[in-house]
Amino acid sequence: PLARARAAIDTHVRLVDDFPSPGIAFKDLTPVLADPEGLAAVVSAMAHYCAGADYIAGIDARGFLLGGAIARELNIGVIAVRKGGKLPPPVIGVDYELEYGSARLEVPATGLALAGTQVAIVDDVLATGGTLAAAARLFTEAGAHVQGLAVIMELAGLGGRAALAGGLGIAVPVHN
Ligand code: AMP
Repeated sequence: PLARARAAIDTHVRLVDDFPSPGIAFKDLTPVLADPEGLAAVVSAMAHYCAGADYIAGIDARGFLLGGAIARELNIGVIAVRKGGKLPPPVIGVDYELEYGSARLEVPATGLALAGTQVAIVDDVLATGGTLAAAARLFTEAGAHVQGLAVIMELAGLGGRAALAGGLGIAVPVHN
């Protein structure tokens, strides 16, 4: 699956310069996931890394697409990690810093039995690592163990891995 995933990503990734702001080289993975073989290969590769988890947690919003598909492949449940303000109370939330300003991630505080579980967190792109680090902190504060982090693509040179200190494994199907 890994080789097929890498081939599909190389073939289908759409590179957009200066989006969402000047100097950013945006990686649009929409065409990768819209391709049946691309979706299957990426989901299989990520599911392989997430095996053993009790839940897949997908980060708002592109991580949702991956999270549901990976969870089905592993026969486990999926959790949507929402941007702040989308969920009804009570929630567990973490605030984190962005390059400009701050952001917040939340999951429901009731209805999820997270304590003592293994959670694998997935997203499409690892850039600075701030988002995944915040999600990992969120699940740790909720009493879960973060089993691992998996992304489709890592943007090298932004220090994402270093930001994810604490021995969290990162599985990256392709490096770019
Ligand atoms: P970060 O917290 O810096 O690791 O940013 C990760 C989040 O921002 C992910 O949810 C990505 O979808 C998105 N992102 C950041 N930079 C890019 C980029 N160059 N191309 C595509 N998505 C990006």
